[in-house]
Amino acid sequence: MALWITDECINCDVCEPECPNQAISMGPEIYIIDPDRCTECVGHFDAPQCVQVCPVDCIPIRPDRLESREVLMARYRWLMRLEPPTAEAIAAAAGASVPQPD
Ligand code: SF4
Ligand code: SF4
Repeated sequence: MALWITDECINCDVCEPECPNQAISMGPEIYIIDPDRCTECVGHFDAPQCVQVCPVDCIPIRPDRLESREVLMARYRWLMRLEPPTAEAIAAAAGASVPQPD
């Protein structure tokens, strides 16, 4: 799942440099997360770094971007240029839900 930043954000600037995927940037009013770059920190860390540092706990998961660990890992490998995008990663980037393997 990608994460998103709610309007409770106080623009403290703490999360942006902690993101290993450069997924966080300043939006029109508050910080925003690019869901096509967020891997929930899969591939880098055991837990989302932005959630760990946010002082007001305003970074929940996006219910419209339910993604398996496999998709998040595929996105990580795509972002790191370790391999070309897979069909799952392309579907994830397009916002489509990806079926879980049996
Ligand atoms: S969960 Fe990780 S990859 Fe996603 S925005 Fe937060 S720090 Fe970046
Ligand atoms: S750490 Fe939390 S409050 Fe601070 S800029 Fe990021 S989302 Fe906003």
